[in-house]
Amino acid sequence: MYDFAIVGAGAYGCATAYHLAKAGSSVVVIDAGKIASGASGGFGKRGIRTNMRDPRELDLVRQAHAKWPTLSDELDADTGFERIGGVCLVEDVPSGLSAGVASAKRRAVVQSDFGIPTEYWDQTVLRDKLPGVAESIDGALYSPFDGVASQEATTVGYARAAQRHGAVFVEDVEVEALVTEASGAISGVLTTSGDRIDASRGVLLTNNVGAARLVQTVTGYELPLWPVLPQVLLVKSEHSPSIPYLTNHQSKVISLKVLKDSTIMLSGGWVGTWDNDERSGGRPVPSRIEGNLDLLRKTFPSLGELTLLSADTSRLESSSLDQVPFVDCIPGARNAYVATGWSGHGWAILPIVAQRLAAWLLTGRKPVEFEQFAIARLAGSAEAARMLA
Ligand SMILES: Cc1cc2nc3c(=O)[nH]c(=O)nc-3n(C[C@H](O)[C@H](O)[C@H](O)COP(=O)(O)OP(=O)(O)OC[C@H]3O[C@@H](n4cnc5c(N)ncnc54)[C@H](O)[C@@H]3O)c2cc1C
Repeated sequence: MYDFAIVGAGAYGCATAYHLAKAGSSVVVIDAGKIASGASGGFGKRGIRTNMRDPRELDLVRQAHAKWPTLSDELDADTGFERIGGVCLVEDVPSGLSAGVASAKRRAVVQSDFGIPTEYWDQTVLRDKLPGVAESIDGALYSPFDGVASQEATTVGYARAAQRHGAVFVEDVEVEALVTEASGAISGVLTTSGDRIDASRGVLLTNNVGAARLVQTVTGYELPLWPVLPQVLLVKSEHSPSIPYLTNHQSKVISLKVLKDSTIMLSGGWVGTWDNDERSGGRPVPSRIEGNLDLLRKTFPSLGELTLLSADTSRLESSSLDQVPFVDCIPGARNAYVATGWSGHGWAILPIVAQRLAAWLLTGRKPVEFEQFAIARLAGSAEAARMLA
């Protein structure tokens, strides 16, 4: 019998386990695959990005910015964190009500008001900082506290630190259902092989898109989220990339970071397709690879010829209807919680969300930051409202 059972050994499961175990609780983390085998694993680094983020997440970003620089020391593991700053390129486009210079300037003010320093760079400053950028770019948002960190090293680092505090990790075991007592309390989980793992104080679902089904087995209500397979390309350029910032675009589907060996990690929102024949589940689509490369050429023509080194769409992520996560109690089930639906940007806020989640599980007091991520915000139908009542 454990105090807490966590389903999913990705970044969120491992980090929350670390905080719970450090506080003296007994914790088991169960994963259908291995530690960091989902969205929180793989090559390269993930962005810690402020620009263009939903304002509901900005306070958490501010708090996460304060935690990332010292995380390697705390975990005694190199997270690969680098505070390289984040740049969001801006074009005065003829359509779209939320894009353009005017909106970017307002956004710089709002982000700064949330305590995240953000400047608006006009064309002159931008060309000075990023000389190779296309003529069509009108300006940029710059957030100096943004950066990158290795998702795999950080997730494994959290897991090892949790283990040193006594947390137990069970790999290659899939959870099929939660065990609900007549009182409504959740007392553990059932695995697909029929084993029961008991938890006296609570169960936390951090199994990404898989959480939707487990929540539904308890409430009958399907969380409005779906699987996505973000595309990540590794690209070599003819001319050495002089792009020192985590860079994305306000209105175009492009995001990039330059790795230590000068290869470009290119993404931004292009996705692969589901492949039933592949165990990984994700298959890159040639036209989408070309679309992503084409945007890179147009955004940084100075890079010259681009050579594709690899295309990966194997890491399953979940996207929610309003593109912000669900961090909540499972409705109707006492002492069961869910944190999922990160919509492609769960990485940046990990250190603070996991810490707050653990505090919630330990004290029973819901952190005020999570009010905006309640399941009920999207439960508009009478049926859903009844289930969530
Ligand atoms: C390619 C890509 C690029 C990204 N880039 C960024 C970025 O630049 N910035 C940013 O902020 N965010 C980014 N993200 C998002 C971020 O990486 C994710 O939001 C975050 O890693 C999610 O972590 P998690 O722990 O919730 O899920 P995961 O890491 O997916 O972990 C879930 C785990 O649950 C396990 N599991 C599933 N079902 C079951 C079950 N029934 N029983 C037991 N185990 C189960 C899985 O095996 C998996 O290991 C990116 C995501 C991807 C995929």
